[in-house]
Amino acid sequence: MCQDIPVKRTFWILASMATLAAAQVLRGQTPPPYRNSKLTVEQRVEDLLRRMTPQEKAEMLAGAGWMESQPNQRLGIPAIKMADGPMGVRNWAGSSAVTNAAATKPVTSTAFPAGIAMASSWDPELAEREGRAIAQEVKALGRDMILGPTVNINRVPLWGRNFEGYGEDPHLAARMGVAYIRGVQAEGVIPSVKHFAANNQEFERHRIDEAISERALHEIYFPAFRAAVEEAGVWAVMSAYNKLNGRWCDENAALLSDTLKKRWGFKGFVISDWGSTYSTAGTINAGMDLEMPGGEPMRVWLSKPATQKDGNGAGWLEADKVMAAVTAGEVKQAAVDDAVRRMLRVMFTAGLFDHPHMAGGEVDTPDQQAVARAAATEGMVLLKNANGALPLDAKQIHSLAVIGPNAAVARNGGGGSSLVRSKYAVTPLAGIEERAAPQVKVQYALGVAMEGADAGDAAARQAALDEAVALARRSEAAVVVVGYAPQLESEGFDRKSMDLPAGQGELIEAVAAANPRTIVVVVAGAPVTMKGWIDRVPGVLYAWYGGQEAGHAIGDLLFGAANPSGKLPVTFPKDWKDSPAYGHYPGENLHVAYAEGIYVGYRGFDQRNVDPLFPFGHGLSYTTFEYSDLAVTPARVERDKPVTVTMKVRNTGPRAGAEVVQLYVHQVHSSEDRPPKELKAFRRVTLGAGESQTVKLTLGADAMSFYSEARKDWVAEPGRFEVMVGASSRDIRLRGKFELGR
Ligand code: BGC
Repeated sequence: MCQDIPVKRTFWILASMATLAAAQVLRGQTPPPYRNSKLTVEQRVEDLLRRMTPQEKAEMLAGAGWMESQPNQRLGIPAIKMADGPMGVRNWAGSSAVTNAAATKPVTSTAFPAGIAMASSWDPELAEREGRAIAQEVKALGRDMILGPTVNINRVPLWGRNFEGYGEDPHLAARMGVAYIRGVQAEGVIPSVKHFAANNQEFERHRIDEAISERALHEIYFPAFRAAVEEAGVWAVMSAYNKLNGRWCDENAALLSDTLKKRWGFKGFVISDWGSTYSTAGTINAGMDLEMPGGEPMRVWLSKPATQKDGNGAGWLEADKVMAAVTAGEVKQAAVDDAVRRMLRVMFTAGLFDHPHMAGGEVDTPDQQAVARAAATEGMVLLKNANGALPLDAKQIHSLAVIGPNAAVARNGGGGSSLVRSKYAVTPLAGIEERAAPQVKVQYALGVAMEGADAGDAAARQAALDEAVALARRSEAAVVVVGYAPQLESEGFDRKSMDLPAGQGELIEAVAAANPRTIVVVVAGAPVTMKGWIDRVPGVLYAWYGGQEAGHAIGDLLFGAANPSGKLPVTFPKDWKDSPAYGHYPGENLHVAYAEGIYVGYRGFDQRNVDPLFPFGHGLSYTTFEYSDLAVTPARVERDKPVTVTMKVRNTGPRAGAEVVQLYVHQVHSSEDRPPKELKAFRRVTLGAGESQTVKLTLGADAMSFYSEARKDWVAEPGRFEVMVGASSRDIRLRGKFELGR
């Protein structure tokens, strides 16, 4: 029912546009300039803006429904029709509570791997292909805008939405975000990079006030947004629910006007997160352009006790309130014009006036599935492989036990607004069976139910465990697929611990005791602790949430049909207590201080000299790579000139594979504290057995600078820099240096 409305509305707008144009032609009038696609976007925007009444302008600042902006019948302005993302196109009929419900008529589309898996591929080109594929599906479903990518930094391993983002490093997150956005925009679809800024925890996300230093904002939490604006020219930015340094993000002029719009030159529009507004004048004056959701669906939702309890706010930018604020002199008409201008600019640029997106196109095509499979395969990380336990050899193993609560179920993603329903999804068990057949006899046992699922009484639970152990004992190898599920890892709440859900660690230990050739596959969106079992198993594959093709990727990687190449985009602490943010989360009395400052993730582990379980950038392959011939030129570089770093990478192992060459930088002496190493460039290279390649990376002034709070600007201080090239942040293979001159 709900899904018919946008289709009807599109039809109605098209019909009215056509009637308008036909009537004008009949009357001998030429259509107004804003309809002329030969004029520039700015000419069309200004022409249309001139024709709008103050009331019509005010109407555009609030949504018309759950996922549509306000259309204008008189002038033929279409609604912007949105869909949730970022890992595929999700239902748009209501809040995630509604669209996750079993009774909802589902929208199905390709489920791509979660952002954290995409980041593990360190392959921006693949992220761009993913962005394109998703945008094609957006159009095929008759929508105009995808609410993604999520580029918030993984500050705390417990954050419920870690799986959506691109990990803990601002440079990597920026590269992946820019690529995704370019792919989406190339298809004429509007992306919405989110959530600006610093939505790093779900706990009290609507009310929490985060105290974050300016330096940490500019160096850690902003770079992916800045790159989205400056490099990808992103068309829309979604604000965050939280308060930042005392102000709601939507009322934060320092954030939206001064930083985003003035400093970075953002030309698109800022869209609120769903129910993140708490005032009229304060919100418009801060630079927020479009409030969502709107209309009747917003009113119904806002009246619900659960919405109120969460602390959502909405309905502040409705036309009568905007008009009243202008009349009262609290808001200048120019501010309203600016918001409308920004929306129109994006609508003309995306082609919404000239080529409306009609529903009915093909979704989940073989090409889109191929992107999903490639991404799932590249994104999985082989964390441990002792004594050549992997790959499994289908010619040598005759029996394989596949065990665990995530083995026979496909987990497309974590929970919340990003969860995509796909037409099909390959479970790990199915993917393994496909690869193992026909030589290997594959048998399955649950072992332990997912926490929260009905597991029966103590006797039933013991029987399930015994069955799995017996199966492992009589098989030549065992694969235990554990991890999280959308009901335990989701938008809306944080994970309650860093451990695996109840009973899963014990299951691994019991299976490993029964069969020394036990491989663990973890399906989750963030690190888990591995105490108690990591030393007892020879192999661990981190699969993340791999989308609908995850099962195929797992089968391919375990049996060596594909060579693992993913690298961790986040540090795996041995224990949550080791995380730099520990003790500074989730805050008290609705305040949280990001006391670790810029020392997030590996920056903090390095600075405090704490050994992680697995370092940032870590990931194994079935082949080996050798690094040599580092050259850093020039040895002394002038200010604002680039440094070129070249090195040779050779595949010294028996088979083709891909390596991610990582370049870290450290300034030796500085007037301000600087992290021991920071990722500033990387390249994924694919090499055949014995093949080598010279890799060239460039370091610009950005790579040498830090953000000075005193100068309120980026500063590159003269002095010596160390250059570290490696296969992970703790596996540095080559070291060089250069001097930055005055
Ligand atoms: C989420 C956004 C999402 C929006 C619309 C919010 O609760 O934070 O990421 O796009 O809902 O579903």
